[in-house]
Amino acid sequence: MLSELRQFYTPENIALALSPWALVLIGFVSLITNFGKYLTWSSVLYWWFYVRQKDGAATKKFQRAWPDRRQIENEIRWSLKSCVVFSVMTVVIYYCALKGWTSIYLNVADRGWGYLCLSIVLMLFLHDIYFYVTHIFSHRISWIFRKFHRIHHQSGNPTPFADIMFHPVDAVVHVGFIPLFLFTLPLHPIAIGLFVTLVLVVNALGHIGYEMFPRFFNHSLIVHWINRASLHNIHHSHVHYNFGLYFRFLDRLFKTEKVLDVDLPKSDLDVSRTAS
Ligand SMILES: [Zn+2]
Ligand SMILES: [Zn+2]
Repeated sequence: MLSELRQFYTPENIALALSPWALVLIGFVSLITNFGKYLTWSSVLYWWFYVRQKDGAATKKFQRAWPDRRQIENEIRWSLKSCVVFSVMTVVIYYCALKGWTSIYLNVADRGWGYLCLSIVLMLFLHDIYFYVTHIFSHRISWIFRKFHRIHHQSGNPTPFADIMFHPVDAVVHVGFIPLFLFTLPLHPIAIGLFVTLVLVVNALGHIGYEMFPRFFNHSLIVHWINRASLHNIHHSHVHYNFGLYFRFLDRLFKTEKVLDVDLPKSDLDVSRTAS
């Protein structure tokens, strides 16, 4: 279907799609989509874990405290600003893609399914490095932390509403990897779509406040190298540890990892009471 779209790439259609009104429309649709996606996804997770399953699931919660209304309103307020940043970024990418400035390709056969899968894996590793480096600088350079990244850490005990709670400048840094990839790596829209979906899921899981993996999984070899919700929760409660996103390689290499045994009883697992 994507290859059929290529027949619409006539100079007249592209000029129409790049007109100011078309860009405003794309921005508006993107904004509504981002608002809807964020509010729906976060509300469903919040309702399930903090309302519906509150008593039953509480034994798996990392921190004992429950968020108050002011914290949640703060998370939503900053996250909606991030949605605006993401929408502006979408318009910029849309414009660049139609101008032919990106390395997006539409025909899978041009490079094959093997390359398409490899490009997703490559993006995950490169994004993990990008995230670790920008994240650790956001903490180690104190004025950057004070002015921008501190917003994300206003929630020491985050809820599902905190996953895109960023200062707008921090939000630009966070989505900066997308144009970086689009201008350097040949990418198919399927790979981009799957990768972006994975980013959203991993980011959301990191802020739920619960470990989502079953217990046996916590001792498996794969979990030894991939990130999990408890590690990012510790990042919120202890700040100076666990800067990675998907993997644990860099935190281990640079000795910035802090782990608490998720099999401990709830009273020992309460990271909010553990000194760093
Ligand atoms: Zn941080
Ligand atoms: Zn976070």
